[in-house]
Amino acid sequence: MTNAEGRTDTLARITVRLDGPAEYRGTEIIGDLRVIAETLYYPFKFVGFWDGQTGNHLCPQTQAGQSCPHPPGDAGRAAYASTVEERMTGELEVHFPHADLSIFLG
Ligand SMILES: [Zn+2]
Repeated sequence: MTNAEGRTDTLARITVRLDGPAEYRGTEIIGDLRVIAETLYYPFKFVGFWDGQTGNHLCPQTQAGQSCPHPPGDAGRAAYASTVEERMTGELEVHFPHADLSIFLG
């Protein structure tokens, strides 16, 4: 859940929206968007990502040999935001709607 200030309990969500002619598409490459997010919000650093198109993400549970509790879709994305807060010291979610991708910084 997000309140009117774009904030969950502790995770601030920032939207970076690209407006312009559709034939000029901004990059959707995660490495590029990571650099943009880290540059905008230095000294915060990358802790995770969520790809809304595929459900791909950097999963601490999977890395620890546990099963992933983050299925593709909105429920999985919300569960992942909680994981980022609780296990990955995340503070900021920088969301890029043109790529349907979020970079989490902490
Ligand atoms: Zn996961």
